[in-house]
Amino acid sequence: MAGFDIAVIGGGIVGTCTALWAQTRGHRVVLIDPAPPGSGTSSGNACTLATYGCLPVNDPSVLRNLPRLATSGDSPLALSWSHALRNPGWMLAFLANCRAGRARAIAGHLAGLLAQADAGLNPLIEVAEAQDLIVARGQLTVWSTEAAAAAADAGLALRRALGVSWTEIHPADARRMEPGLTLPVARAVHYPEARHVRDPQALVARFHAAFAAQGGVTVTARATATRDTGDRVEVTTEAGPVDAGRVVIAAGAFARQIAGAGRARLPLGTERGYHLLFAGDAHRVTRPVGWAEGGFYATPMARGLRLAGTVEIAALDAPPSANRLGYLARRGAEMLGPLPEPDETWLGFRPTFPDSLPAIGPSPASPRILHAFGHQHLGLTLGGITGRIVTDLAEGRAPNQPIAAFSPARRFF
Ligand SMILES: Cc1cc2nc3c(=O)[nH]c(=O)nc-3n(C[C@H](O)[C@H](O)[C@H](O)COP(=O)(O)OP(=O)(O)OC[C@H]3O[C@@H](n4cnc5c(N)ncnc54)[C@H](O)[C@@H]3O)c2cc1C
Repeated sequence: MAGFDIAVIGGGIVGTCTALWAQTRGHRVVLIDPAPPGSGTSSGNACTLATYGCLPVNDPSVLRNLPRLATSGDSPLALSWSHALRNPGWMLAFLANCRAGRARAIAGHLAGLLAQADAGLNPLIEVAEAQDLIVARGQLTVWSTEAAAAAADAGLALRRALGVSWTEIHPADARRMEPGLTLPVARAVHYPEARHVRDPQALVARFHAAFAAQGGVTVTARATATRDTGDRVEVTTEAGPVDAGRVVIAAGAFARQIAGAGRARLPLGTERGYHLLFAGDAHRVTRPVGWAEGGFYATPMARGLRLAGTVEIAALDAPPSANRLGYLARRGAEMLGPLPEPDETWLGFRPTFPDSLPAIGPSPASPRILHAFGHQHLGLTLGGITGRIVTDLAEGRAPNQPIAAFSPARRFF
């Protein structure tokens, strides 16, 4: 297939938003993915449009507490030591980014991008007539111990300094807002501007339907390689070659599996995360509630109550961990009282660089190949703005916000 202006590899939230932005601007676009749109990591997340989420997992407290966090079965963070030993570069760079100065700088870069997140997503919601999938009730974070509540001061102050609005909620009021909580509430904070998505996969499917309705082409096949031919790019796919003026790689945690485009030097890893779904229990909360010490959200969504989160640093092809699923079930019952057997268990792969910043920009190998992956905990939130930025770059235009910090050619620690 030939003659496309832009080929997008990967139809998760990031790739589908990119395809829809580019098609809406009048380009001839092809989207390449062997799987249905939004059926990967973009389907099973905690559903939050987390515009407040500028604090990275990289944090000085991780450095101090890593041995305890990574060896306790009762921690929201799990680490496969054999995986860490096989990937010492990623691990060391991740830890180097936990230094206080780096963590603050990373938070600043993420806050700048998050401030534009709604401006990148809302036009797509409108084009795709997906307003019914978006709920604006804010997000509530609770701390269940006095020690963790007090330790949250610095992070909350940094959020405020970076322009994030939040309101301190008296614990008794938090209970009135969310009467289903059975946890002790030592502290609660509400992010009034946050929204959530009733069903993230349905949102991506809606974006994809709008893309197709505007004439966008979909190739249901795996891409294996990209090659700059001098003035255009050829994508090798299992369904034959695809030729385009620009190629956007948006294959999430799997982006390094596509040959070409300087993949070898990009330290892309994954933070695996889990969810449990309880089909009949959506009424337990009225908005996404994050339990800080638990490391997960309880979200009311179209398909039921979703408990989603935790971080497991392990290989892409390692089997799901029964221990991690058991952790979510046990801590979920602590948070909300007894829960039935889950109707669904799920493992997903956050695409994560060691500095918790995405790669958005030209590949070091070719100005015609653009990277758009590595959105870690924030891909649902940042897919829209990433799609707009990448479309600007494909058109040879400067985006209207700084993106140097997201350069694929940057130093990652
Ligand atoms: C438990 C959990 C909770 C989360 N909660 C939130 C949240 O509340 N809010 C938020 O903003 N983010 C959240 N995230 C993060 C978010 O889900 C991810 O950052 C986001 O889904 C990544 O989107 P993506 O499009 O980059 O990747 P994906 O959704 O993984 O999509 C990549 C696509 O590329 C395709 N692909 C792969 N290889 C190839 C190939 N060779 N050729 C063609 N196509 C290919 C795949 O089939 C897939 O469709 C959470 C993640 C997890 C795991």
